[in-house]
Amino acid sequence: MGNPNLDVLVVGGSIGGISCALALLKLGCKLTVLEKASSITAAGAGIGLDETSIKILQNLSDRKALEKSVMPMTSEANRAILDGQARTIHQDDHWNHHSAHWSDIHQSLYRALPEGILHFCHTVVDVQQFEEGVTVTAECGAASASNLDGPPQTHTYHPDLVVAADGSMSQTRQRLRPNEGRRYSGYCAWRGVVPVQEHPEVAAAVRAAYPDLHRRLYFDMAKDTHSVLYTLPGDRLNWLWYVNQAEPQLKGRSVTVKADEQTIKEMHRSAAATFTPELAKLMQVTDKPFINAIYDREPLPQLVWDQVVLVGEAAHPTTPHGLRSTNMALADADQLRQSLEKHHCKIAPALQDFQDARLDATSTEVLFSRYLGQLKQGLLYPGQPVESWLQQPPSKQQELGQASMGSFSMSNYKDQHLPPFS
Ligand SMILES: Cc1cc2nc3c(=O)[nH]c(=O)nc-3n(C[C@H](O)[C@H](O)[C@H](O)COP(=O)(O)OP(=O)(O)OC[C@H]3O[C@@H](n4cnc5c(N)ncnc54)[C@H](O)[C@@H]3O)c2cc1C
Repeated sequence: MGNPNLDVLVVGGSIGGISCALALLKLGCKLTVLEKASSITAAGAGIGLDETSIKILQNLSDRKALEKSVMPMTSEANRAILDGQARTIHQDDHWNHHSAHWSDIHQSLYRALPEGILHFCHTVVDVQQFEEGVTVTAECGAASASNLDGPPQTHTYHPDLVVAADGSMSQTRQRLRPNEGRRYSGYCAWRGVVPVQEHPEVAAAVRAAYPDLHRRLYFDMAKDTHSVLYTLPGDRLNWLWYVNQAEPQLKGRSVTVKADEQTIKEMHRSAAATFTPELAKLMQVTDKPFINAIYDREPLPQLVWDQVVLVGEAAHPTTPHGLRSTNMALADADQLRQSLEKHHCKIAPALQDFQDARLDATSTEVLFSRYLGQLKQGLLYPGQPVESWLQQPPSKQQELGQASMGSFSMSNYKDQHLPPFS
């Protein structure tokens, strides 16, 4: 018989960590979540959620709050921009997604968590597995304002199971795979969110030029670059612009680069020369646009090391093009619950079941997103003019669509030498 009162320690209190905690609480497990940040902040920007994620979120958090935090995104268009004019390459009007702001989803999961489970200012500094069990060491209070001068206190935990949800720079993963690095994609993303009420005229012009923006995700491709535009609940317009460039110098573990005035001005100029005038204007009026360097990692051969399981971004950091990272984190949480339930909380068979269910699926999603990013950034077919997409057969044009993930093959991807356009 397994132990229904399994003592589970989750490293990381972001969407992946909190959703795992909420899912395992439903099995009667004892949960502790350790988060190094000192509080929940309203960070981030837009995310896409698939139907499975919506169902998982409905089970884990308050349905009414969730309804307000998401809006249907039922269509996707990939277009070529030529002299500021858009021409559709591929459109899918049967796409079943929702948009949301990352921090709204994070906060609604956080609010669903009973008090006393999530501990802020707790940085996990070591995870060791011995024959007799697993030990987790955390430094506590180091980030708290009251303790800036004093030495951090150390706590040691002896849980039955460690769920590592400590993100794309996971130190838990680093301990398990010390020689592994992340892969810089070759590009960064400018990002911004514009509340419509702050720029009603600009927003009206954008909506006229992007008529189905209330339900459609627009990808506009120009030479060796592309943008993303969609609406977020609360009447906000969310945009991204991927720019090929050398890897930036990053401070610490963050992938966000603060842009100075000069860089922002150059971005404004170059937007006007690249995209539709309406989208360029939206980028120009955005308050505090920021830059994310885009990374992923090679898919792992395993997700489980005895009593430690990697989930979310710690397990499969991905580029954003398949809109998968939050969806994958939520699916991991749900699968972990199912696997533990199926195996009566016996750790070894449950974690094997989890790995069997998630390893190939998440690897495909990471490589599909990488492929899509390289395709849209002109990295797979260097020198190819964007208008050549308009002459491709529909089967090739469809590859730009999110739905093509279903037919994506990892073995094809490994053959990087794809034929040039005819
Ligand atoms: C502040 C923030 C903003 C984001 N905004 C967006 C967005 O706008 N759009 C989007 O698509 N995705 C966004 N994400 C992406 C997000 O990466 C994931 O898609 C989603 O949250 C699931 O990832 P995760 O929970 O596995 O990892 P993450 O969200 O990366 O969270 C990892 C968590 O672990 C904590 N942590 C790391 N190391 C330790 C340690 N040693 N001890 C304790 N805690 C630790 C981190 O502080 C963090 O809270 C954001 C993530 C963060 C953290």
